[in-house]
Amino acid sequence: SDWTNSGDALVALDDDKTKGRTDMELLVGTTIIELIYGDITKTNVDCIVNAANTSLLGGGGVDGAIHRAGGIEILEECKEIRARQGGCSVGEAVITTAGKLNAKYVIHTVGPVWNKGINNEEDKLEKCYKNSLDIAVKHNVKSIAFPNISTGIYRFPKLKAAQIAFSSVQSFIEDEKFMDRIQFVCFDEENYQIYLKIFKEKL
Ligand code: ADP
Repeated sequence: SDWTNSGDALVALDDDKTKGRTDMELLVGTTIIELIYGDITKTNVDCIVNAANTSLLGGGGVDGAIHRAGGIEILEECKEIRARQGGCSVGEAVITTAGKLNAKYVIHTVGPVWNKGINNEEDKLEKCYKNSLDIAVKHNVKSIAFPNISTGIYRFPKLKAAQIAFSSVQSFIEDEKFMDRIQFVCFDEENYQIYLKIFKEKL
């Protein structure tokens, strides 16, 4: 592993993301918010959130990783939802089995494609987090993991996306005392460093 100087603390970044690491945690009300540097398919929670696309038929990035690791069952349920309601709109979320993953459910939410901020992308991203958490609560989910929605192929600015992710989760916790654990799972180092800084500011 290599060492990166981030602010005043030296943080070890393990190259083997399959291990996953809880790097920081914050207690907000009765909910623990965790920062993980790793692969979301390896994490141990009730529910994993997928950054899907409107077709729900799978794609690259985290979507591809979740379908590969979870197996065909997830895609079968996505196809049923698609047949019923024609996919999933931007900002909305749907729930399926997690197939072979450790989790019980996958929530598929569709982040906005960044277009200079002129299409209400910020509100749409906030809705992704809020709607995912609402569906999770309806299914009695007590622990949930989020990837950095929209910050890959959809090019949402990473700092802005992290601030929205954090504030959406925080205001959800203030309204609902339901969730035990919420994880932010960062896969790329840039996102990880951004989240680390936000976590440290909240400590
Ligand atoms: P979007 O189309 O919403 O931008 P992407 O999958 O392209 O979705 O990227 C979203 C984020 O998911 C990116 O920050 C990327 O680094 C991250 N990511 C990719 N693979 C994984 C994985 N296996 N686990 C967690 N995050 C991942």
